[in-house]
Amino acid sequence: MGFLRVRRRGAFRVIAEPDGPEDRLRRFATIWSRAVFPVTSTSATRPEFEEQLLPLARRLSEALAARAVDTDEGRAVGAALVDAHCTDPEALTRSLDCVDAYLVLYCGGDGDREDLRSRSSRLQHAMAAGFAHALRERTLTEQEAIAQAALQAQGVVAQALHATEARFRAVFEGAAIGIGIADLDGNVLQVNGALLRMFGITDQTMRGRKVQEWTHPEDAPQTWTLYDELVRGEREHYHLEKAFSRPDGTVLWTNLTVSLLRDADGAPQYQLALMEDTTERRLLNLRLRYEATHDALTGLPNRTLFFERLEKALSAGEGQRFGLCYLDLDGFKTINDSLGHAAGDRLLVEVADRLQSCATAPGEMVARLGGDEFVALTTGPDTEREVDDLAARIMNVLLAPVRIDGRELTVRGSIGIVEGPAGERGPAEVLRSADITMYRAKSAGGNRFELADPEADARAITRHGLTTQLPAALDRGEFFIEYQPLVHLGDGSVRGAEALVRWLHPQHGVLGPDRFIPLAEHTGLIVPLGRWVLEQSVRQAREWRERYGQDVAGDPLRINVNLSPCQLTHPGLVQDTVDILERAGVEPDALCLEVTESALIGADDDLLKPLRRLAEMGVDIALDDFGTGYSNLANLRRLPVSVLKLDRSFTQSMQQFPADPVDLKIVEGIVSLAHGLNLAVTVEGVETGAQAEQLRILGCDTAQGWYYARPGPPDRLHQLALVDATG
Ligand code: C2E
Ligand code: MG
Ligand code: MG
Repeated sequence: MGFLRVRRRGAFRVIAEPDGPEDRLRRFATIWSRAVFPVTSTSATRPEFEEQLLPLARRLSEALAARAVDTDEGRAVGAALVDAHCTDPEALTRSLDCVDAYLVLYCGGDGDREDLRSRSSRLQHAMAAGFAHALRERTLTEQEAIAQAALQAQGVVAQALHATEARFRAVFEGAAIGIGIADLDGNVLQVNGALLRMFGITDQTMRGRKVQEWTHPEDAPQTWTLYDELVRGEREHYHLEKAFSRPDGTVLWTNLTVSLLRDADGAPQYQLALMEDTTERRLLNLRLRYEATHDALTGLPNRTLFFERLEKALSAGEGQRFGLCYLDLDGFKTINDSLGHAAGDRLLVEVADRLQSCATAPGEMVARLGGDEFVALTTGPDTEREVDDLAARIMNVLLAPVRIDGRELTVRGSIGIVEGPAGERGPAEVLRSADITMYRAKSAGGNRFELADPEADARAITRHGLTTQLPAALDRGEFFIEYQPLVHLGDGSVRGAEALVRWLHPQHGVLGPDRFIPLAEHTGLIVPLGRWVLEQSVRQAREWRERYGQDVAGDPLRINVNLSPCQLTHPGLVQDTVDILERAGVEPDALCLEVTESALIGADDDLLKPLRRLAEMGVDIALDDFGTGYSNLANLRRLPVSVLKLDRSFTQSMQQFPADPVDLKIVEGIVSLAHGLNLAVTVEGVETGAQAEQLRILGCDTAQGWYYARPGPPDRLHQLALVDATG
C-alpha cells in the first residue's frame, strides 16, 4: 500500500512534464520494475530487470489500445513474468496493483477512461491466469528436468569413475546440481562446486565432515535407516527431502537422491549423492500454505488450520485435555450495517489483535472461523483451570472501547466453553457443542461465557431436529388439538373451550406446545400452523353447535384460540379469520382469540389495528396470562380486549387454605377493575374445588383447569357440556 502512495505522488510529477508516449511507457516500466524487483529471485540488476519488463509493458500498452482486447496478450505477459523469475505470488500482486494504477494513466492516451479501465481490468485477469498457468507448468518441467539430470549424472559419473580422471572432473564440475561422492564409511571424497555453493562452505570443511554428521532436526524418521541399508549394500538408492544446516545458520532444503556405486565386480564401493536445492520452492510452498491456512483480513489462523490443530489436540495421548472458547461478538451485524463494512472490518482486526494477546502460551491458539466468530484453544493436562482463565482474559480484553472513525465502539461477546479429555470426541462434535453453548450465552443476554453441558446440548440438538421437522409435520398431519372446557363459575356450566395444539411426533410421542411453539414462532411456521389450528377449532365449534345448540345462557359454545405475536403482525390475519369463519358458517362472536399480555406491551396503533377490526366484527379478544407481564392497568382501556385471563400463578397462591390475604386483595382489585372496564375475567389453572369457590367469591366469571377437566379430545367436552346443561 505504501508503495502505491509513493508511486502516485511520482505519477503526478511525471504527468506534469510533456512526455511522449515512448517516455510514458518507459516510466511505466520503471515503476513496475521498482515495485516488483524486491520480490523477484532474478540475478539481474534492477535496471536490467526494467529492460526485461519494458517489452511486457509495451505488449500491455498495445493490448490496451487494440480495437478488441486480446486477453492472450495478458496471459502471455503473466507467463513472461514467471520466465523472468518473478515466481513469488507477491510479484504478481504487485504487478497487478501497478497495472491497475498506472497502465491507463501512462498508456491510455486520450481514450475513453471508463472503457480503458474495463480493458485494463480484463488484461489483469488474463495476466493472473497466465501467471498461475506458467508457474504450474514450470514447477512440473523443473521437476522433470531435475529427475532427468539426476539420472544422466548418475550414469555419467558411474562411467567416469571407471574412466579417466579428466573426464570425470569435467562432468562433475559442469553439473548444475550438487554432486558428492563418499566411501561407505561416510568419508567425503569428492564434491562439486554446485554442492559447495549450496552449502556455502569450502571443499575442505566439507571433506572434514562425515556424511553421518549431516543430521538435521527435521530429518524424516526413515532418513538414516535408508542410509544404513544403502551402505550395507542392501539397497541401490533412495530418494527423500532433506534439510541441512549451513554454517551461517540458515537451512538448505534439498531433494536428495543417494545411489550405491559398485565396482566392476559388483561389490559396493561408493555412495553417490545428487542434490537439488529446493529451499526457495519450499518457501513458496510455505507461503502458499500460509495463505491457505490464514485469514486474509486479520492474519489469524483460519478454520482449516484451526481444525487441524483441534484434531491434533483431540487425538493427543493419555492425560491430555483441551479447552475451547467459541466467541461470537454481540451486535456485530448492527455495527456492520450502520457504520459500513470498512468499519466492521477494522473492528474485526482490532478484536483479532486483542484476542491474539490472550493466547500466547505454548499450546494456545486463536483463530477466526469466519464473520465475527473466533475461537481460542488451549491444550495440555491442565485445561480445566486454564480455559476459565482464557475466557476471562478474552472478556477482559474486549472491555476497552474500540475507536473507529472518531467513534468509541463498545465490543461485547458471548463465549461458549467446551473442555474435556482428549480421545473422546471428534472436532465436529466439539465445535457443535461450543456453538450451542455460545448461543446459550447469547440468549441469556450476551456479554458472558457459559460452560457446555451435555444435557443442554442434547436439548438443543433435539430442538434443532424438531425445528427442521416442523414443516413436514404440518404437511403430514402430525398435529392435533385438545380442548379444555371453560366453565361458568356461577352455575358450573360449560361455556366454551380453549383449543390447545399438540404434536404427535413419530419418535418423541406427544409433544406439548411449549416444546415446539417457540420454534414455530422462530421459523415463521407459526403462521400456517396457527391458521390450521383456527380452521380446525372453528369447524369444531360448528359441530358442537349443530349437536348441542347453545349453552345454558342461550349463547353458542365458544371456542378460544391462541394467537402468537407473529400472527398478530401477519398481514393476512383479519382476512384469514374472516374467511375461516365464513367457510365454516360460524358467527364471529363464537370465537375468542387469546393474545398474551406480553405481546401487547407497548403495542402501537398499527399493531392493534387488526385486533380492533376483529373486535369490531364481534370476535372476542382475551388477554392471556394476565399478570405475568408488566402491563399498565390503565393501559387496558386502550386495548381492544373484552376478556382478561388471569394467569395460573394467581390460582396457585390460593392452593393453601386460608389463602394469602394479600393475593386475595390483588385478585379482587383486578377483578373489580376489569369489571369496571367492562371486561370479563377468566381464571386459569383451577385445580381444586376450594380454589374454584374462592375465585367465585372474588367475582371471577369463568374458570379453566384440571378441577373441571384436563385438555382432551372434543368428545369429552360434549359429555361435560351435556352433564352440566342437563344436570
Ligand atoms: P395458555 O394459553 O395459557 O394455556 C393454558 C395452559 O395451561 C395449557 O398448557 C393447559 O394445558 C394448562 N393448564 C390447564 N389447566 C391447568 C391446571 O389446572 N393446572 C396446570 N398446571 N396447568 C393447566 P399447554 O397446553 O401446555 O399450553 C401451553 C401454552 O401453549 C398455552 O398457554 C398457549 O400459550 C400455547 N399454545 C397452545 N396451543 C397453541 C396454539 O394453537 N397456538 C399458539 N400460538 N399457542 C398455543
Ligand atoms: Mg391460552
Ligand atoms: Mg394462559
